[in-house]
Amino acid sequence: MEINWNELGFDYMKLPYRFIAHWKNGAWDNGQITEDAFLHLHEGSTALHYGQQCFEGLKAYGRKDGRVNLFRAGENSARMNRSARRLLMPEVPEEMFIAAIKKVIAANRAFVPPYGTGATLYIRPLLIGVGPNIGVHAAPEYIFTVFCMPVGAYFKGGLTPTNFIVSDYDRAAPKGTGAAKVGGNYAASLLPGKEAQAHNFSDCIYLDPETHTKIEEVGSANFFGITKKGQFITPKSPSILPSITKYSLLYLAKERLGLEALEEDVPIDDLNRFTEAGACGTAAVISPIGGIQYEDTFHVFYSESEVGPVTQKLYDELTGIQFGDKTPPSGWIITVD
Ligand SMILES: *Cc1c(COP(=O)(O)O)cnc(C)c1O
Repeated sequence: MEINWNELGFDYMKLPYRFIAHWKNGAWDNGQITEDAFLHLHEGSTALHYGQQCFEGLKAYGRKDGRVNLFRAGENSARMNRSARRLLMPEVPEEMFIAAIKKVIAANRAFVPPYGTGATLYIRPLLIGVGPNIGVHAAPEYIFTVFCMPVGAYFKGGLTPTNFIVSDYDRAAPKGTGAAKVGGNYAASLLPGKEAQAHNFSDCIYLDPETHTKIEEVGSANFFGITKKGQFITPKSPSILPSITKYSLLYLAKERLGLEALEEDVPIDDLNRFTEAGACGTAAVISPIGGIQYEDTFHVFYSESEVGPVTQKLYDELTGIQFGDKTPPSGWIITVD
C-alpha cells in the first residue's frame, strides 16, 4: 500500500491490524490483535438498539527522531471510563487501554505518518454492549476494540477560518449524556450539522439546552474565545463534552502565553468582547472561527480569511508539544518506538 501522506484527508482506511477484547461474566479477556475489520455481533446487542456504546479519539504523532508520541492518552482512558459509568458499561482499566493502543500502533507501525507531513495516526477506541438481550437494561457482554488509520493535517495551507451558524436544535439535554462521548449525541447532531452545511456553514453552534442563551459546543468541538483584554475564555457546562484539546489550550494559554484563562458562561449576545474565536478538538486541533450567524446577524471575529495571532500561537505551542518539538508539561506525552 503506497500512501501519499500529504494528500490524506480524514477518511477511513483499512489498516492490517486492530485490537479486540471481550467482557463476559464480570471480566475482560486478554484481548488480541486481529486482521478482521468486521465485528460479529448478536442481533440483541444493546449498542444497536439502545445506544449503549461510547468511543474515544486520539492521535499518534511521528517525531523528528522517528519515534512516536501519544498525547495525553491517560485522559482519553479516564474520559472513556466516565462515559462507560454513565451508560452502565464496564470500565477498561487504564493499563489495558494504553497497552491496546501501543499494540495497535506497533502492529501498524509502517502507517504512522512521518514527521513533517502534518499527518498523524488517528486512533479510535470503541466500547459497545453486545450479547443476547431485548429488555431495556445493560448488556450481558461487551466488546472493546481499537483501530487506527493515518489522517491528513486538517488545514493544509495553514489555519483557515470558517463560519458557523447557531442551531435551534440541542445535541444534549441539561442532565443527559452531553458530557459522555457516546454515539447518541452524534446521532442527534447529524441533522443540525447537515442543515448548517446546506446553508454553507462548516457546522452549527449549540447553545445551552436549558436557556438557549450561551454557547456550548461548535459542531463536535469545544469553543474558545480570546477577549479584547487578552483572556482565554471557554464555556463551562455539565452538558459540554470535556475536550482534552480544550483543557490543554487552557493550560498553555495560562502557563506558556501568560494569558488569564477562564471557564465561564459565553452569552451568545455578547460576542463583541472577543477579538478571536476558535473550535478545538483532536481532529483539527484548532479551527479558527471566522464568523457566527445568530438569527439575523453575522458576527465576524478577527477576520473571515485570516487566523488571529493568539490562536496561531496556541496552535503552534500545542502541535509543537504533540510532535515532540517543544517541551511537554509533565505527563502529557508517552513516547514509543
Ligand atoms: C471528542 C469531542 C470533542 C473534542 O474532544 P478532544 O478530547 O479535544 O478530542 C468535543 N466535542 C465533542 C462533542 C466530542 O465528542
